Amino acid sequence: MRDAETVTFGAPLGQAFDRAAHLREGHDILERASGASARILPLWRGKPMVAGGEGEADALAPGWLPSRHPLLALAQEPPVFLGLAPGKAPRFAVDVSGWSPPEVPDTLGAFLDPSEQRHPDVPADHRFAELRAVMTRLSPQDAGILATARAVTGWHTTHRFCARCGAASVPTAAGWQRTCPACGAKHFPRTDPVVIMLVTRGDRLLIGRSPGWPPGMFSLLAGFIEPGETIEAAVRREVAEETGVAVGQVDYLSSQPWPFPASLMLGCRAEALSEDIVLDPVELEAARWATKAEMLAAVAGQHPEIRPPRRGAIAGYLIGRWLADTLE
Ligand SMILES: [Zn+2]
Repeated sequence: MRDAETVTFGAPLGQAFDRAAHLREGHDILERASGASARILPLWRGKPMVAGGEGEADALAPGWLPSRHPLLALAQEPPVFLGLAPGKAPRFAVDVSGWSPPEVPDTLGAFLDPSEQRHPDVPADHRFAELRAVMTRLSPQDAGILATARAVTGWHTTHRFCARCGAASVPTAAGWQRTCPACGAKHFPRTDPVVIMLVTRGDRLLIGRSPGWPPGMFSLLAGFIEPGETIEAAVRREVAEETGVAVGQVDYLSSQPWPFPASLMLGCRAEALSEDIVLDPVELEAARWATKAEMLAAVAGQHPEIRPPRRGAIAGYLIGRWLADTLE
């Protein structure tokens, strides 16, 4: 699909932000984290620090802090090297989940946590925010940087012990590996592939909703690829399991890193060979066919029953391209 990297989190970082993977090993890159040109992004319980206005349409940027900022002393592990900004200034991320804010809302970890946390020592417009809630207010490049930071720091949080022998492992390669001091095993950040599919029959689209989603929200069907499966086989299996609909031709369209916590969404289109829906009530609360006219109304907020996926998610992106007839 042309322009496929225009999806949120899809900006190719190499254009203006260089991951500089060659600096991760055998160099002193972590020593540069304390230098004057270094900037460090703190993340608190999976929420990156952002900076900018309060309005729903106000642009946001990463909440970079200078390396000697006192908040960063809460980090329990060394920073992760994210890459080089223009001018070769190094950028890092650290997890400061050890900080205890005055109030911890019960929406923390919910489907979409609207709460924001402000540390008293950072500028007034800096706060920790749920990336899903603010992703469309960031530039494409900044959204990609924050997605990377969230994915890698989140992986460290949940992979502290060696999967081979159980000993505590330590971050290496500037945060892009963990190494086990007991058995020598090396572990790498996970990315879990997920298929998400635009299943159509004529001018109708197959949509579904999972339990716990916001009321009325429908999206494309999706599911994890299992070991030993191709993308195409996973699309056919997931659609059959969740709705009983048989699928023929499958084509790949575009992808989206989705760091909640570690997915790579593989957007596909698929042709349905049957129409009757047999719902899997564990996976889905509802599934239905919707015409283009219905989806246009849903996207405009004017459908009585269907609300569209969140802005920024690949499902909404693909539905928009389908409605505009620009999938090629
Ligand atoms: Zn080990």
